Amino acid sequence: MTISIDCAYCDPKITILSATPPLGADEKKFRSAWKATTTGGPGNSSQLNNLECPSCGGHFRLADDGVHINEGGSVVAINISRPRIDSVDVSAGSALGGNRITLTGHALDCGELVVKFGEETANVISRSATTAYVSAPIGQYKFNILTGPYLKVTLSDATGEFVEREQLQTSQDKVAMIVKIDKNCVWIDGSSEDFPNGSSVFGTTSRVTANVVMSTTPQPFKGEIVEGSTSGALAIVSNTSPLEVKRPSRSFAPLEFVIGKSSDAVIRLTSSPAYSGMVDVTVENEFGSRTKGHRLSGGFVYT
Ligand SMILES: [Zn+2]
Repeated sequence: MTISIDCAYCDPKITILSATPPLGADEKKFRSAWKATTTGGPGNSSQLNNLECPSCGGHFRLADDGVHINEGGSVVAINISRPRIDSVDVSAGSALGGNRITLTGHALDCGELVVKFGEETANVISRSATTAYVSAPIGQYKFNILTGPYLKVTLSDATGEFVEREQLQTSQDKVAMIVKIDKNCVWIDGSSEDFPNGSSVFGTTSRVTANVVMSTTPQPFKGEIVEGSTSGALAIVSNTSPLEVKRPSRSFAPLEFVIGKSSDAVIRLTSSPAYSGMVDVTVENEFGSRTKGHRLSGGFVYT
């Protein structure tokens, strides 16, 4: 009679724990004593609740097998291994999600596997000890900003309608281009020092004059929705420095303006690429995550 706990993963077999009763000892008492260790009895230790395979790093916990001593009951090992990720077969895909990706790693079959791309959870389609087949979640990506956030200027006493792309000029001959107009506000590629409150301005194309009531530079904030001016794409700001957005409704267009729906912040994207979205791929289950190998840094790029 020997109690032997083998690693569920290693082949050839790795025995993590092995115990044999002393010569002449009562075998039932021996098995009973081992059962007792699993319920806090003599010999119970955190070590027995966390047996580590020296070869693969899998973890196992001793448990009562539920069989009576008289019927040969003993202890068994419960797999409590934390998953590890080594690679993905596809390293880039659509910001809209849905790409089918195979993860390679270890103990991916243990417990409730949670796979995340950045902050978003992937749908696990199927899995084995060494592979998990998942559907990439909706993406998160960083804007490549060409210019902005732009100065928002609130105007009064306008003599007509300003036009986008015209130059706004002050009496001090400071000029800035109007990139967006909304009612009595214009967004310009200029600084508040050049367009102080109370100054008068005119449009070099429209010849419209007006007075500056207030000039501020709105900044996008975390959690707000931003919209692409030409693509109509919507996304949520997940980080402000650098500006990162998640859950895009569709792809943003190169060189378009992106407008904060709440902040009124306006920025402009670069021509190519308009965005890039490298995220870490992580794996964990209810037993936790490994200190090494649960995170594939920069494992996936949203395009
Ligand atoms: Zn092992």
